[in-house]
Amino acid sequence: MASVPEVYYGSLISGVTSRFANMSEKLDKILEMLDFSTIEKRDKVAVKMHLGFNDGYQTVPVFFVRRIVEAIKEQGAFPFVTDNPTAVYQAAERGYTAETCGCPIIPVAGVKDKYVKKKKVEVEGITSLNAAGVLLDADVLINLTHSKGHGSCGYGGAFKNIALGGYSGPTRWQTIHGIVHRDKYFDESKMTKEHLETIKAACPRNAPQWNETTEKASLMFYDCDQCHGGKKLCEDADGGLTGWTVKQENFDAFQEIMAAAAKIILDSFESSKVFHINFMLDITPFCDCMGMAMPSVIDDVGIAASRDIVAVDTASLDLIRKVGLNRDVLARIPEKYMRVNPNLSARLHPFQLIHGPMKDPYRVAQYGEKMGLGSSKYKLVEILSADQTANMEPPKHQYEGGPTFF
Ligand code: SF4
Repeated sequence: MASVPEVYYGSLISGVTSRFANMSEKLDKILEMLDFSTIEKRDKVAVKMHLGFNDGYQTVPVFFVRRIVEAIKEQGAFPFVTDNPTAVYQAAERGYTAETCGCPIIPVAGVKDKYVKKKKVEVEGITSLNAAGVLLDADVLINLTHSKGHGSCGYGGAFKNIALGGYSGPTRWQTIHGIVHRDKYFDESKMTKEHLETIKAACPRNAPQWNETTEKASLMFYDCDQCHGGKKLCEDADGGLTGWTVKQENFDAFQEIMAAAAKIILDSFESSKVFHINFMLDITPFCDCMGMAMPSVIDDVGIAASRDIVAVDTASLDLIRKVGLNRDVLARIPEKYMRVNPNLSARLHPFQLIHGPMKDPYRVAQYGEKMGLGSSKYKLVEILSADQTANMEPPKHQYEGGPTFF
């Protein structure tokens, strides 16, 4: 029987206000546990990140990126940070440069987003995806993720970081995101603009849309919170005329293709050369590509890392569930920005309480497990826990009495 994968966890909470119990120390020890010795001299190491967009700066702090890059260099390897071209070109505005990260920053599918490799896939009639060539050229993958909520699937974690981030723009936006529309959810022949306007007027999330160019209706699945499991106002407004319905299958299709897309990326690396590190800091309700600052709806949790992608995302979601939603923050957020489930005690994950019960954040990892990508059973190994550090003797020189850089 395969052994249970370990997930190394460093909490933001420390037992003592001392540098040796800090997150930086915890990250260094987590990297030791992950064991970078399988990274060989001269290996080209892709550090796949989401570097944010426009004014959205709540991503993995460069402070940690630099430490990870240094640990890779210690193996004699050549790291580079990578993300989509727009994020790379704007990266300096958010503090990510070759100087601050300690390595080059390279667009994941080339400068024009056209350096891709066509890969076969079979999900809902989709047969191929254009994987990012720069990522596939690497010998080693560090899947470095900012854990946060996501409008399409509830959670943006390790899977999403490579499933969407590992592909060119058209594949990401049209093919992968577009999959939600393949299972029909209304009869197009009966839908008129006027009728759609009636449906739209009933929706508190403005999710039903009419495209003036194509003269077609569609549901913005990203915005729909499924009326939080209550009576769906859009379906009522349709009155059965077009059969408009919000179905679980549409949301699931996105989760399934994300798992399949992640598998393609992972299969292009030797399994001993793949590492997943999730940062559960600044846990915003929506994705980093929103391009703006967002409230942290869940208090900072810490870092989780593993060589198993299913385990790391499952463990991260379990840790986030334990901390739960910050109700004080929620109380200050207007409904137009984000509706939450009126029953905050419902047996749902915090991300479902925000995004609706059909956006189950575990679903992508469950698909991944079925595809053989890892195990949802894991062993959590906490590094430098609060209890442990509370009982440790702090080193002598704690504070800078004068300049110490000589
Ligand atoms: S289920 Fe609710 S939120 Fe979703 S489209 Fe319908 S009315 Fe809008």
